[in-house]
Amino acid sequence: MNKRRNQCIHCNYSYCIKAGTTSQNKQRYQCKKCKKKFIGNYSYRAYHKSTNHNIQQLIKEGVGIRGISRLLDVSKTTVLKKILKIASKVVKPPISSFLCTPIPSSLIVI
Ligand SMILES: [Zn+2]
Repeated sequence: MNKRRNQCIHCNYSYCIKAGTTSQNKQRYQCKKCKKKFIGNYSYRAYHKSTNHNIQQLIKEGVGIRGISRLLDVSKTTVLKKILKIASKVVKPPISSFLCTPIPSSLIVI
């Protein structure tokens, strides 16, 4: 029996196969659709799916890096790296063309 049904944490595809074990003897799976590998249950909390969302919410509430680290039980370095990763995905809003048009020289009165 080499196949097992488990949901992919990256694309939520439901068909994944066993792909060996980690150095801590945890079962590793590989998604048949996106080919990414993952572990069934992560023991380190930074890898949980909800961590990025929780960090975003805490930043909105004004909690500092150390506070987030304490509340989510992950290291300060991990919090900083996750913040940078979240910030890199933020899309800049389009600037209105009205604000960028130069003033025509006929309108400038000296
Ligand atoms: Zn997948």
